Amino acid sequence: MITFFCAECDAPCHNRLSATDAYCDECYYAKSLTMYRAISFAAVYSKDGRRLSIGSSVNKCCAERNALWSIDHEEASYVVVCRVQKKKQKVSVTSSRPCMQCILTMQMYGVEKVCYSTKSGEFVWEEVHHMSTTYETVSRTIVRV
Ligand SMILES: [Zn+2]
Ligand SMILES: [Zn+2]
Repeated sequence: MITFFCAECDAPCHNRLSATDAYCDECYYAKSLTMYRAISFAAVYSKDGRRLSIGSSVNKCCAERNALWSIDHEEASYVVVCRVQKKKQKVSVTSSRPCMQCILTMQMYGVEKVCYSTKSGEFVWEEVHHMSTTYETVSRTIVRV
């Protein structure tokens, strides 16, 4: 695999956005914050608290699934997700309660608990295997092959 260097921070990376610019995940998400009205971020952690991956909602699907798809099943224990919105030039935290497809995906990956933001900007933890919801998003992809 060819390695590029992030245009913002010089870290080696594999995401090439154009012929001239490549960005690491973190810088790519920071950049996308300026282009979207609302964006979700998710991070997946192992049992001992290591961050395994991060994902955002900019790649057409939910942040949780984008983060989970890039790692191996066995290690995922916790998912933390947050949604930030921009309204009248003000930034606030809003609800990021996982949708049905993300709950199913987390259950498949053996994620124990998920922490998500609420409409009032607080965070709650929920046991993934107790969660159910009928809220669906446009992207129904649960497994990406
Ligand atoms: Zn970077
Ligand atoms: Zn989702």
